[in-house]
Amino acid sequence: MTANAFPPPKMGEPYLLTPGPLTTAYEVKQAMLKDWGSWDDDFRAMTRDMRHRLLALLGEGSEHYDCVPMQGSGSFCVEAMLGTFVPRDGKVLVLANGAYGLRAATTMDYLGRAKTLLDKGDYLPPRGDEVARILADDPAITHVLAIHCETSSGILNPIEEISEATYAAGRKLLIDSMSAFGAVPLEPTKIRFEAFVSSANKCIEGVPGFGFVIAKKALLESSKGNSHSLALDVHAQWANMEKTGQWRYTPPTHVVAAFIEALKLHEAEGGVAARGARYARNRDVMVAGMRGLGFETLLEARWLSPIIVTFFCPADPKFVFSTFYDLMKQKGFIIYPGKLTVVDSFRIGVIGRMDEHVMARVVEAAREALAEMGVDSAAPPAAALEERKKLAA
Ligand SMILES: *Cc1c(COP(=O)(O)O)cnc(C)c1O
Repeated sequence: MTANAFPPPKMGEPYLLTPGPLTTAYEVKQAMLKDWGSWDDDFRAMTRDMRHRLLALLGEGSEHYDCVPMQGSGSFCVEAMLGTFVPRDGKVLVLANGAYGLRAATTMDYLGRAKTLLDKGDYLPPRGDEVARILADDPAITHVLAIHCETSSGILNPIEEISEATYAAGRKLLIDSMSAFGAVPLEPTKIRFEAFVSSANKCIEGVPGFGFVIAKKALLESSKGNSHSLALDVHAQWANMEKTGQWRYTPPTHVVAAFIEALKLHEAEGGVAARGARYARNRDVMVAGMRGLGFETLLEARWLSPIIVTFFCPADPKFVFSTFYDLMKQKGFIIYPGKLTVVDSFRIGVIGRMDEHVMARVVEAAREALAEMGVDSAAPPAAALEERKKLAA
């Protein structure tokens, strides 16, 4: 891949170093310059093509799964998946280590269905042995919900060991792979799961407007009548799509058109492996450069996802995050505030239509911004490094 395979966003837009919405290819934006009739054969064919392309990303064993797109943002899909696949008398073990795990737990409360929450705090990973212990102690639990990449810290959770512990105990795994699918492999021959969700505006690099549920066909067939919600009933959406080729209610036609273009670019790049490799290079170049300026990552290398990275704010009192943000924006980069409760932090996303040459410029922009603020060293406060030791322990 040559450097100019990733031209800067047109019309002077900054790069979005955020985990979706993110910087999309010009071709993706251009695909929206046309109107489609939602009932028309052309659009039905687009929906069919999109579902097939998404399923193909699972690799071997994909024939046992089907793909059901759902209108709305990613959280709508999480709610739809939980409401449709967890029976009303089911009980879910929600594994949380950040905002998205906690949101899934809140969703269970709204659904009025039973749950147990394993809350590991800001970023510690839920481990297989913990899951095994909780499942052994509570036979009422029917399902486990895991977050693949917890985007609030950027940790890549140990989904393999969570899956093994879940099925060893005879329970079922549901995955929020929102910010991982498309760049991190999720193959049914390697990781056992019943269903997962992702959305248009993350690693496939589409624009926001819908998400999709990928679930075992047998599960889709058996989940009629479970849902608490008309609009969020995955079974009803699937049954209607199978019968008529149409979405039940107004589909985001332009977003689907853009997403198909994004899927073609994903395929042309070399699929999940190549997308993941580009993001990993983005991360490695960016993290090495930021470390060179004195910044420290929250997570040790083994937990760093190729999606988004959390950095501690520097200890130097001249560092003010809002000023740093504004300076980075002036230099063409939108960064992301942190979500840690204990120490100040910020995040830099490495997904979207950009490569390591762009990431090198991000580091250069950060160096200039620090100099303009009069910050000599970006080293974090001692308390931040103490916090990080917990993870190593
Ligand atoms: C983006 C994301 C979601 C969904 O968020 P929306 O704002 O509803 O699109 C859910 N889980 C994770 C892990 C995410 O990264």
